[in-house]
Amino acid sequence: MADRWNLVVIGAGPGGYEAAVEGAKKGMKVALVENRELGGTCLNRGCIPTKTILHTAELYHELQAGPSIGLRTEQAAVDMDLVQKRKEEVLKQLRAGIAALMKTNKITVYDGTGTIVDRCHVSVRPESGGPVLLETDHILIATGSVPACPPIPGADLPGVVTSDGLLDKKDMFGHLIIIGGGVIGMEFASIYSSLGHPVTIIEALDRILPGMDKEIAQNLKMILKKRDTDIHTGARVEEILRDEDGKGLICRFVEKDKVCEARADGILIATGRRAYTGGLISEESSQEIRDMAMERGRIVTDGNQETSVPGIYAIGDVTGGVQLAHAATAQGRSAVAHMAGEEVSIRLDIVPSCVYTSPEIGCVGITADEAKEKGISVITRKYLMSANGKSLLSQQERGFIKVVADSETQCILGAQMMCARATDMISQFAAAIVNGLTLEDMAKVIFPHPTFSEGILEAVRL
Ligand code: FAD
Ligand code: NAD
Repeated sequence: MADRWNLVVIGAGPGGYEAAVEGAKKGMKVALVENRELGGTCLNRGCIPTKTILHTAELYHELQAGPSIGLRTEQAAVDMDLVQKRKEEVLKQLRAGIAALMKTNKITVYDGTGTIVDRCHVSVRPESGGPVLLETDHILIATGSVPACPPIPGADLPGVVTSDGLLDKKDMFGHLIIIGGGVIGMEFASIYSSLGHPVTIIEALDRILPGMDKEIAQNLKMILKKRDTDIHTGARVEEILRDEDGKGLICRFVEKDKVCEARADGILIATGRRAYTGGLISEESSQEIRDMAMERGRIVTDGNQETSVPGIYAIGDVTGGVQLAHAATAQGRSAVAHMAGEEVSIRLDIVPSCVYTSPEIGCVGITADEAKEKGISVITRKYLMSANGKSLLSQQERGFIKVVADSETQCILGAQMMCARATDMISQFAAAIVNGLTLEDMAKVIFPHPTFSEGILEAVRL
């Protein structure tokens, strides 16, 4: 006999486990199926481990300015064993927190691979022992994503890794080549360059962080160059080879029709991530499940996160689109609200995106260029953080806050920030956009002094 549930969630990343809690809070009997660790990519191989290492790397970098701020720091050194140990402790503590959260909310966690049999049944295959059949009213797919590697000859050589491999590495590569100048590439470039390791970035498009405001990419390029980072854009990687003495690696690429070579001890491939559906659908799945609408490997959903099969929802990285932890969580909450027949109130179209470089980057809504492409007439206000007291006293690198507002209504449509704490402060603009605030509305607020956030007030008042 199958166990009976109101909701079975497959995948315990930030999308899946948060949706499970949301379901339980609405009175649903919920089962959560996971075949690796609780917390998914975000906690185990993504957001948290990268930012934990970045924290150490940035402190180390800041210490280099010691004498100029009255600190004697000649003895400062990095101990990678301790850095890794601390990272593992942080992950362990957060995983335990999720396990406790599941217990408090009476969510049953099944350890195994979930396969959808039909609209109402999920089979769970544990690593050992026979399968368990779960009967349910609703199914939520939250199986996430894995690194996508282009077919580059030599990509399987030892020393060529994805972010998973680089995060697990006990020591650091002396010189690192990063293929892909996107978000993952920039965060690892920040870690390596902050710790004093040379980095070479090879990006196919004409600028790093191609999805973001041009000025952000230009500024970041300048900052990274000062930190011994070599950046090649508009570059096509041809192959990866072992070097002559068999210890290092050579990356051969074409830039402006010229064949170039970069040499390093290790290569990170950070060229995007693809939706993961391994084990989710198999021969035991009904025809309806096998026919579920997919597009280039990702599961297609409607505005309520429902797939082409009624009662089955999908959220997060497996659906493609913005692959961010907070987007997965918001989609999960929305999907559960729809299952419960409630009005969905979360604005899923306004997703702040952040890059944890130094200085940090935070963006939300549209850029001035995007507004132009869409034929929207906008005004842009830009405040340079070099005039902000907190930035100056804490020796922050050059930074700015840009606000894009509708030229007629003055309603805020977007913001791009590149400055200290941008990743925390961007939510103020997200709140402004979601609630239709104008520049004047935001300027009514008193901002405390001295703070980085005063820059927001200056930008909207300009
Ligand atoms: P995931 O977190 O990928 O979780 C899916 C889970 O499903 C996994 O645990 C997997 O084992 C499990 N699973 C898969 N198939 C099955 C099955 N059939 N049965 C049972 N279990 C299954 N995002 C941010 O917002 N901020 C950041 O700072 C950030 N940093 C990142 C840094 C790196 C290096 C990487 C790689 C990603 C980062 N991301 C960040 C992206 C973020 O990690 C993802 O967007 C987020 O984890 C997606 O959540 P999810 O719930 O959709 O899937
Ligand atoms: P990405 O899409 O951000 O960047 C990939 C980059 O690789 C692009 O600039 C692309 O032009 C380039 N590229 C693709 N093929 C190439 C090739 N053959 N040669 C050279 N360059 C090539 O993807 P990512 O950096 O791998 O990150 C994956 C996802 O993880 C992102 O979509 C992001 O949402 C998420 N993530 C978020 C954060 C964060 O929120 N701070 C941090 C890390 C990852």
